Amino acid sequence: MKPLISIRNLKKQYVTDVGDGELIEVAALAGVDLDIHQGEFVAIMGPSGSGKSTLMQILGLLDRSTSGEFHLNGQDIGKMNDDQLAELRSHLIGFVFQFFNLLPRSTCIDNVALPIIYSGGPNPQERAIELLKTVDLGHRLTHRPHQLSGGQQQRVAIARALANNPKIIFADEPTGNISSQQTEEVLNLLDDLNKKGVTIILVTHEPEVAHRARRLITIRDGVVEGDETLQEPRIRCTQPEQIPVKEKADSFHWKRSRENLRMAWGSLTLNLLRTSLATLGVIIGIASFVAMVAIGEGAKKAVGDMISSLGTNILNIRAVNPRGAKGTNDNYRKFEINDFEALQQFAKTVPAIKNVDTQVYGDVTVSYQNKNSVVELMGATPTIEGMQNFKPIMGRFFTEDENHMQARVALIGQTVAQNLFGDQNPVGSMIKLNKAEYQVIGLLPRKGATAYKDRDELIIVPLRTGMNRILGRKSLAVMTVEAVDSAYMNRAQASVDDWFYEYRQLKDGEAKNYEIRNMNDIQQLYTQSTGIISSMLKAISIVALLVGGIGIMNVMFVSVKERTREVGLRKAIGAKRLDILSQFLVESVLIGLFGGIVGMILGYLLSIAASELLDWATLFSVGSVVIAFVFSFVVGLVFGLWPAKQASELSPIEALRYE
Ligand code: ADP
Ligand code: MG
Repeated sequence: MKPLISIRNLKKQYVTDVGDGELIEVAALAGVDLDIHQGEFVAIMGPSGSGKSTLMQILGLLDRSTSGEFHLNGQDIGKMNDDQLAELRSHLIGFVFQFFNLLPRSTCIDNVALPIIYSGGPNPQERAIELLKTVDLGHRLTHRPHQLSGGQQQRVAIARALANNPKIIFADEPTGNISSQQTEEVLNLLDDLNKKGVTIILVTHEPEVAHRARRLITIRDGVVEGDETLQEPRIRCTQPEQIPVKEKADSFHWKRSRENLRMAWGSLTLNLLRTSLATLGVIIGIASFVAMVAIGEGAKKAVGDMISSLGTNILNIRAVNPRGAKGTNDNYRKFEINDFEALQQFAKTVPAIKNVDTQVYGDVTVSYQNKNSVVELMGATPTIEGMQNFKPIMGRFFTEDENHMQARVALIGQTVAQNLFGDQNPVGSMIKLNKAEYQVIGLLPRKGATAYKDRDELIIVPLRTGMNRILGRKSLAVMTVEAVDSAYMNRAQASVDDWFYEYRQLKDGEAKNYEIRNMNDIQQLYTQSTGIISSMLKAISIVALLVGGIGIMNVMFVSVKERTREVGLRKAIGAKRLDILSQFLVESVLIGLFGGIVGMILGYLLSIAASELLDWATLFSVGSVVIAFVFSFVVGLVFGLWPAKQASELSPIEALRYE
């Protein structure tokens, strides 16, 4: 009959670096041969340092031997990878440690349920309660380890070792830290288990404890020195059945995921301050990103609104000083009314041009009865009505004749009408512009307010009326040309440009003393100022996200270090690499998302502040929230990966030894 455990010439060497690159080799096991059959109750004795714990850890699949053969349950252990060992361990083996190794912050139930959760067994909680009752702890279910005596803790540990119905229990000095009365209870428990057919292997240095076993093995200096049968084993067992070992570990199980989530959450809330400091970078990054998008989008929309209200397919022509510097205005000439008339004549010959107009601007004091205010006055030709969407909603626009006659007529914007007339119909009333009487002939359509100004606070009068009667101006502010279609914009611009070059009598190569802008140029001009702010915020958000990511990574490394023993323990009782990996990844992703959510709120407040204090148009978009969410998720994931991977690759026994 095949033994349950069979080892041949098993050796274990520890290599320790004692500093200065000097390595010390300790042969903890120096060639052990041993067979143990199912159903045996074995005690291992030997002086301290003889290799008992080392042997137990190798037999218990927590560590690997340096050389030699090891068959467990007929399976060759040397050929298995770490996850397969973990699988075998969780189905075959229960381990009881000298120092209990319970998770300090978990209840008895949770401690006992853990191996069942990791192995994917059914009803972990119910089974844990049942097991705790069998070790006489039915009255301590929700206690935590520090609320229990040593003996009680060891009984919880035994219940945990039994969680997956193991065939073998390894107990390394289980009674070393408990009183003699409790020792008796623990030994009785082990004896009962042996009666039920569980193989027990127990290390002790107390002869009374050893003599409860049925076989006594003594070890000295890493080899078996003695092997005596105290009593015949209770059961001579049948051929051991094979435990199938999957090639790959189970990839997903919701109970395990829930456990991982719970652990991550527990550790986060335990270190609240540290966690929130770690998220600071992410908060700043996401906040500036969200604010940047809001400001950028707001500016884009404001400019878009303004431009469409100005009319589309329009070119603006202004006189400029070619060198751009004041005082060097050698060929600087303003446009006057005759220049506009020349342009009008030329435009008639260009099919790509639909309309031309020109405007003057200035401030005017408007009064009606006892109310007065200063508003913007625009003088323009009648073509502006169609070119820039000024079709009056009441009354009519002025005519070319009225322009020529410098008629005293005006159209008023909605804000002006509201201020002067309230809800009354203003058309036909007489108002005063700079003290002279004018007739209101029309009410302009609502244009709305942009970030820059209220475009309904406006009065339009005929060009010549504005220039000669009100503002006393000879020069024009701007001339506008409308192309027949957006497809003809470039053609219209080129011919206007050529014409002006000639008209202004510029010599070949001479700098232009006029400037033609299309709406794209104007849009760029307006977005430039907000563009600088938003690229600054963009840079901040990238740098801050990076810093935030490194902050998360830092905190995760600390977290992994702090919980090295816990990781070792979890692995010892059946956690796979993926479990540990996901436990830490969940933690770092949660940190990232937390930072992301706080950052979004902050960014939202920031964009509100920008619109309130700086009077900027901002537009908070759902898209930016989604992107910010994804960003913070990815930052948490990417920067948590390295620490989590490191944790998942810890060897269980080394992690358990970690101080
Ligand atoms: P026992 O449990 O019988 O007291 P151990 O198996 O713990 O003995 O240790 C056997 C020998 O191996 C001892 O000399 C000990 O110093 C050494 N040893 C144990 N663990 C390590 C380790 N992790 N690194 C280096 N040496 C070790
Ligand atoms: Mg020991």
